[in-house]
Amino acid sequence: MGVFDNYFPMGLGTGRFPIIGPDDSEGVEKSAQLTIKALEAGVNYIDTAYAYSAGMSNAALKLAFSGTKKTADVTVKVMHDMDKTADEARKRAEMQITSLGLEKAKFFVCWTIPTYEAFQDIMRKDGVYDGALKLKNEGLIEHICCSLHASVEDSIKIIKSDAFKGVTISYSLLNAMQITPVLDAALEHNVDVAVMNPLGGGIIAQNLNFFSFAAGENENTVIAALRFAKAHPAVKILLSGLSNESELNENLIAFTEKAKESNDERTVRVMKEIKGIDNFCVNCNYCENCPKGIPVAELMNKRNTLLFAPTERYNRIAPELLRNISLFYSHSHLGTAEWFPDSPNNPCNRCGKCEKICTQKLNIIDAIDDMYDRAGKVCYTLESRKERVGELLADKGYKKVGLYPNGGFANMVVDLYNRYWGEPEFEWLQFNSDPKMWGEKMGGLPIHSPEDINKLKPDVIIIPTYRHDKAIYEGLKHHEETGIKIIKLHRDTDVPWVF
Ligand code: SF4
Ligand code: SF4
Repeated sequence: MGVFDNYFPMGLGTGRFPIIGPDDSEGVEKSAQLTIKALEAGVNYIDTAYAYSAGMSNAALKLAFSGTKKTADVTVKVMHDMDKTADEARKRAEMQITSLGLEKAKFFVCWTIPTYEAFQDIMRKDGVYDGALKLKNEGLIEHICCSLHASVEDSIKIIKSDAFKGVTISYSLLNAMQITPVLDAALEHNVDVAVMNPLGGGIIAQNLNFFSFAAGENENTVIAALRFAKAHPAVKILLSGLSNESELNENLIAFTEKAKESNDERTVRVMKEIKGIDNFCVNCNYCENCPKGIPVAELMNKRNTLLFAPTERYNRIAPELLRNISLFYSHSHLGTAEWFPDSPNNPCNRCGKCEKICTQKLNIIDAIDDMYDRAGKVCYTLESRKERVGELLADKGYKKVGLYPNGGFANMVVDLYNRYWGEPEFEWLQFNSDPKMWGEKMGGLPIHSPEDINKLKPDVIIIPTYRHDKAIYEGLKHHEETGIKIIKLHRDTDVPWVF
């Protein structure tokens, strides 16, 4: 029996709860009520992580569990970039079990594995996997799973390793042609799949006309898209990231009302339609082996988003910025294995090999030019990020530099500075409003309470995060009166450094 058998086919995703910040108790309460409604509807698998919904998804779930007799199995997640040893992995998992108000969690998830090399690092002696095994022996977790953000090839290798009995993968109408071989491998190796982003991160719901080809007779497009993502036999659970009750009710229809066509009929019909869309890269990969090493299929697949209306994301509304966020956002969630150019200089020699072979007859050469050009303008190259860190921190004579909050973005700033300017003459200080973090270390640096800002007096505080940077700036700007500079890492036209 598979690890995701016997679960309701819709799982609750907790990354889109209506919570705007760590102090948003009203948002936490609303999210708890939404969770209770989902549990009452039959949902019994919850995908959560310590960083979701401004770091408050677990607080919302704890509140929900205390308000209902219904129960659900939950995930605890460990990202190997953050926690590298067995002990660090155990500590991170135990912290999450406690924050959920539980005594154990059903699923330990090796979170966002970006490459096969990262997987090998997770599996090394005394690495994250060893930590998970110890937790399993102690009864604190039951199953070891992973979420894959790796290339198709690496994902299949990781699945074949048999290390995980359950995987979470991004799959939808947007990347169906590309990801199907991964699902096929999972089926063959008895690895159950939970699908994340079955609505393409909101793109499908916001472009209903475009995706109406997926709908069957008298079927709503959203429901059709969900049923399509569930139709592959390896897929046992679809994760639905909910913000409100109407989304819950709409998504439930896909799983509670009987569809007119079988899963196989749906898959064949919809795949045929996908191949027929104008200007749509179907990720057939025939254009691979560009002599200049450009990942043509990956870039062309990303450009499919330019066919859609801009989708509001990350608290941003400017249409061109939204277009760029969608363009560089990871729809297939290939993580750090994805294209990230060193500079905006396009290496394409216009040999035409890719255009000749493209099954969809796409204007690839101009499109590749545009990708490099945009990447440079929106800080999506190594060169432009190095320049930004230099502009903010190099040769400023600072004695103390604050980062608020700590996390993946902050780690990138520290790494880039150390890589290009060496050990700083200033001291790094990390701040976080979450009391659970105070006194902990991340990236080897201690984390302080915001109360300590007055005592520690940094010369500057960089706000490295993206989604809530404006709100954090508003909360910190009173420190400018005491001479502390407060600066957002991202400029108004930049896409997030971490998606
Ligand atoms: S035209 Fe450019 S992108 Fe296409 S194969 Fe040649 S070098 Fe690669
Ligand atoms: S050949 Fe064309 S359709 Fe196929 S992956 Fe390449 S760009 Fe996309």
